Amino acid sequence: YGRHFNPTVYVLGRQIAAYEGAQAGYCTASGLGAISATLLQLCDTGDHVVAGRTIYGGTYAFLHDYLPAKAGVSTTFVDISDLDAVERAFTPRTRLLYCETISNPTLRVADVPRLAEIAHRHGAALVVDNTFAPLIMAPIPLGADVVVHSLTKFMNGASDHIAGAVCGSTEFILRLMDLHTGSLMLLGQTMDPQVAFDISLRLPHLGLRMAEHSRRALEFARRLADLGLPVGYPGLESHPDHALLQQLRHPDFGCGGIFTLDLGRRERAFEFMAKLQNEHRFGMMAVSLGYSETLMSCSAASTSSELPDEELERAGIRPGLVRISIGYTGSLEQRWTQLHGVLKDMSLVA
Ligand SMILES: *Cc1c(COP(=O)(O)O)cnc(C)c1O
Repeated sequence: YGRHFNPTVYVLGRQIAAYEGAQAGYCTASGLGAISATLLQLCDTGDHVVAGRTIYGGTYAFLHDYLPAKAGVSTTFVDISDLDAVERAFTPRTRLLYCETISNPTLRVADVPRLAEIAHRHGAALVVDNTFAPLIMAPIPLGADVVVHSLTKFMNGASDHIAGAVCGSTEFILRLMDLHTGSLMLLGQTMDPQVAFDISLRLPHLGLRMAEHSRRALEFARRLADLGLPVGYPGLESHPDHALLQQLRHPDFGCGGIFTLDLGRRERAFEFMAKLQNEHRFGMMAVSLGYSETLMSCSAASTSSELPDEELERAGIRPGLVRISIGYTGSLEQRWTQLHGVLKDMSLVA
């Protein structure tokens, strides 16, 4: 029966597991379907989670609001780059440490080998969301136990499906599908085979797409930095995790397709995005990412709006921070002319 097992969904899960260097994988109806199934599988009532503070808004809400209310599972949020703080947050009931390889939207890189070492020393699992860095990072060979993905983004790449995946040991994937206690089997968020078929046709060019997203993001980030603008991109030497990412990433796919630009105030951020979309046609205002077109969003007012103001500040998600997921349509120089045109319009450059 298709909710329990379907060969097309299985093959897609195998392909993604191969990219991740995992024993096994299975696909879900969404990224949050993968995340919620994994967290519910690993935690029982009374258990505890340590999670990075800058994570996807829906994941934050699931950990902060849903799990304590519905399952009696509590979470301590920490700065994942502060390894002492991570260590201190563990309790005897901590079952897992949760983070994102490249965090949304602050683009901090998780030191997966050291985080895995901390988690394992406390008898806990390391779960990593690798949505921002498919092919670029492979957390499982670096020590993580489970990798979750929103395939909705770069993996599918066409912004026409909602989908996710979980990768890990064969034992863990089988546990998710257990007829009596499997949280993927019983909550029912498995992937539809039609979706699996579509996505399997797009995975062969994932490598080309990631390399081009990264090439353009690096070039734009460099040019913006050269103009003295407050740009954040882990491919720039000025980024606090540049050296760490160089050490952990695969050499062929760059540093990711996403950079940020801080416009200071929220109104300025919206003016900037509206001009880029409506006057210069550089990209589109949308909360998603990993598409062939450039997508832009003001994180504090959109994908991270589940976080209260003081959490946004603590997480470094400033009110005018614009997250830009660079597409690959048009030529690089044509796109730069459009972006530069808006910088001139808004007197951000001479
Ligand atoms: C979008 C996203 C999710 C959620 O994925 P859905 O497919 O929308 O459920 C989880 N994590 C990250 C990092 C994301 O960007």
